[in-house]
Amino acid sequence: MVSCAIATCRNTSAKISKNKDGITFHRFPRDKERRRQWEVAVNREKEWSSTLSSAVCSEHFVAVDFYLTESGLRRLSMEAVPTINISPCQEPEPTITVTKPVDIKPTDTEEVIQLKHKVRRLEVIAESRKKRLNLMWQSKRRLKKKLERMACLIKNLIKIKKCIAENG
Ligand SMILES: [Zn+2]
Repeated sequence: MVSCAIATCRNTSAKISKNKDGITFHRFPRDKERRRQWEVAVNREKEWSSTLSSAVCSEHFVAVDFYLTESGLRRLSMEAVPTINISPCQEPEPTITVTKPVDIKPTDTEEVIQLKHKVRRLEVIAESRKKRLNLMWQSKRRLKKKLERMACLIKNLIKIKKCIAENG
């Protein structure tokens, strides 16, 4: 059984399931430095340290921390560090699993229900990717404008310099 390393989180692999609840468990990184980042992030007692089986559940990562493999599996990106829903002092934040409830009909088979949950998770990830992409486009546009302004400024400075050289 895997349990979440976040002290205030009660999620265990025995209690929740990926297909039903959409919650996944993610082991601490092997890389020493990143492992240390996670250990700090989970905010446990001083004497606590992670083991090979330590994991954090998906409720503590933001949507952009996840990516999809070509086969549609949800994976955690390399830079991801648990950041949300860690301490009771933090404002609870929505997670990838807190989404619109999936529309399940009484006639749906277990397989159909699982697929519906999967589709919903993929939708959430796609949505967050789209948002990130949009932000990148926006900042690209902003930088382009800035560049144009700078070019204009430089042109003017050159003009002024010429003026000064000619008159003085
Ligand atoms: Zn957890």
